[in-house]
Amino acid sequence: MTRLTASGADLFGLHNLPYGVYSVAGAEPRVAVRYGGFVVDLALLLDDAETFAHPFLNTFMAQGHERWIAVRAAIKEALEEDVPDEAVHELGAVTLHLPFDVADYVDFYASAHHASNLGRLFRRDAPDPLMPNWKHLPVGYHGRSASIVLSGTDIVRPSGQRKGPGDPAPVFGPEPRLDIEAELGFVVGTGNPMGAPISVDDAERHIFGVVLFNDWSARAIQAWEYVPLGPNLGKSFASTISPWVVPLLALEAAHVRVPDQDPAVLPYLAMENPWGLDVDLEVAWNGQVVTRPPYSAMYWSPAQMLAHLTVNGAPTRTGDLFASGTVSGPAKDQRGALIELTWGGQEPVTVNGDDRTFLEDGDEIALTATAPGPGGARIGFGEARGRIVSAARSA
Ligand code: MN
Repeated sequence: MTRLTASGADLFGLHNLPYGVYSVAGAEPRVAVRYGGFVVDLALLLDDAETFAHPFLNTFMAQGHERWIAVRAAIKEALEEDVPDEAVHELGAVTLHLPFDVADYVDFYASAHHASNLGRLFRRDAPDPLMPNWKHLPVGYHGRSASIVLSGTDIVRPSGQRKGPGDPAPVFGPEPRLDIEAELGFVVGTGNPMGAPISVDDAERHIFGVVLFNDWSARAIQAWEYVPLGPNLGKSFASTISPWVVPLLALEAAHVRVPDQDPAVLPYLAMENPWGLDVDLEVAWNGQVVTRPPYSAMYWSPAQMLAHLTVNGAPTRTGDLFASGTVSGPAKDQRGALIELTWGGQEPVTVNGDDRTFLEDGDEIALTATAPGPGGARIGFGEARGRIVSAARSA
């Protein structure tokens, strides 16, 4: 038996306890909790193989909100006692896996700053950078869950069709304007049956946790294809998530009110206290931090996004993932996509001494984030990292 310790200053102390999936050589992946620099096997820690001896968190998530509260309390209690040696691994000694089996995936567009910047860049002559619907509903689109990958997975530069304003005809080739979108992803723990929407007030009981999310974006493909049905191949080739799912239960001290919503929203989106999250993101480009997007500036609450997603009767399932959309704050160095940060490529940023606009082969992007925890502690989210490799040779 071993007594584990993590200091109160540790981003992964007892106040956090994010869930993930790990394996060691020769063994199947299993659910674990991260505590400080350790990965602790939950089937062994809590003597519950039925819930936790699985390669995904889905079985546990499907057990529901009351059970998430009880398990979190049981983990805290168990970690304050001696822990069986066979349950404990050093973080560096394990392989981490995609933590949950991703069901359906939707990406929203919840930052007014991002939507306004993109409106100015994509629709230069429009009188209002926000579309008329934007402040009445959380705009979103359905993406491709099969291309959601774990941090550390290489990202192959996509090829596709594009047509610039001056081009006489479309051309095919590797994406020249490969971009990132720094976002948070919300994991649905328990869904809703078809025809029974989730209300804004119930949403918190359905959202299991939060991951970092990089929605890699092919801007030239996107600009040509998106009219009139929205993003498709420009987004569906890969999105990267962090390996640790931070429980929403760990983020109580991070709740903040979203910015004032004016005009007033329709009753199904109205909340007495529309909560957002005070999460500070950071984007490093080849190791150099280039932007610090504040999640607290997001216009739409995660609860409003989930309520909107289901208000037409659409079902959601355990493992559904909805992402926030690019997190951008009001300041230039808070913009969460390179297209905004470099203003369409016209204003390069300096990365390790070089002027850069979009991603080149070999570039690496790492998203990290922290949030307030109880009593002045900080919550860590780990990282979502990916490196660009050259386009697959086209057939
Ligand atoms: Mn996005």
